[in-house]
Amino acid sequence: MRLIVMVVFGDSGVCKKLVGRIKDVAGSIDRDVKLMEVCGTHTQVVARYGIRSVLPSNVKLVSGPGCPVCVTAQRDIDCVVELALSGVTVATYGDMMRVPGSRMSLNGARAEGADVEVVCSVVDALRMCRDREDVVFFGVGFETTAPMSAVALKSGLCVYSVHKTMPAAMKMLLLMDKVNIDGFISPGNVSAIIGSSAYRDVDAAQVITGFEAVDVLASVLMLLLQIRKGERKVENEYNRVVSARGNPAALGVIDEVFEARDADWRGLGVVGGSGLGIRKRFGRFDAEVRFSDVLDDVMEPKVFNGCRCGEVLCGVCEPHECGLFGKKCRPDSPMGACMVSSEGACGIAYVAGCF
Ligand code: SF4
Repeated sequence: MRLIVMVVFGDSGVCKKLVGRIKDVAGSIDRDVKLMEVCGTHTQVVARYGIRSVLPSNVKLVSGPGCPVCVTAQRDIDCVVELALSGVTVATYGDMMRVPGSRMSLNGARAEGADVEVVCSVVDALRMCRDREDVVFFGVGFETTAPMSAVALKSGLCVYSVHKTMPAAMKMLLLMDKVNIDGFISPGNVSAIIGSSAYRDVDAAQVITGFEAVDVLASVLMLLLQIRKGERKVENEYNRVVSARGNPAALGVIDEVFEARDADWRGLGVVGGSGLGIRKRFGRFDAEVRFSDVLDDVMEPKVFNGCRCGEVLCGVCEPHECGLFGKKCRPDSPMGACMVSSEGACGIAYVAGCF
């Protein structure tokens, strides 16, 4: 079975047919169309398979706020750096180490003697906190990682939560000047948790999409067909994984531990109800409560001159249009969050040689 699936996914003939159909349909739309992928893994797929290069000239594909490392607000980076410098042990995923904060990154804090540990999973962080009150897990990511943080928190792990929810951000993008999105390539991984029905309030053409080149091309075609007909609905290209109602167990534990709150996104600003704050009854495992004395003193974040990460994350600036791209800002010396992660648009563009 797996072999059959691989043959279909790797069939260049299928891809060529899809590209041909995309060109036909795009040719019958007499205007430019802007599509956005809102998942960092889709940004990787688009770059890896050179998908932009085969699209017709009136179809533009831009990256959105789908990299959890990139959208983490500067203030949250500063808060966790401050926790580390105050003597708290911070456990985090590797990419978060290098995101520049106003004073320094978590890597910088470690160089100054702070105890910052890179973990591969939240289970590692849970092991570290056994019999200790001074360990904080930096809970980053969308609905895909939030369930694991919730389970670990219930087991005693203290979490600094910057978990976010994706549909609220997509709605915000549709309200923003200059963004002008005609359709979304919606995230297959997030959708596996929240289900296709979670997007019904997002007023745009949307296709929930898998992670093969064939998936992305099929989604572009499905979006163009919707746009040609003037439709704005949710379609599910990734129905081999995503159902309408999602994963009830994962949604249940998210709802048990977290509640919706306003969240600050790099690029989008504060988006109402788009964050997952820890419920009061779990307050003793909420780093913002346990270490409020440290966090109350964190200064207003400083923005770096010339960094255009915010515009990159809204799809209004392409990475190479930032004056720092490939010069002062490179993967080995990132000036902005979008250059740090393997899912960041600038990092992906740099590796793909888009100068
Ligand atoms: S090139 Fe660097 S500084 Fe410029 S937008 Fe990208 S990450 Fe930010």
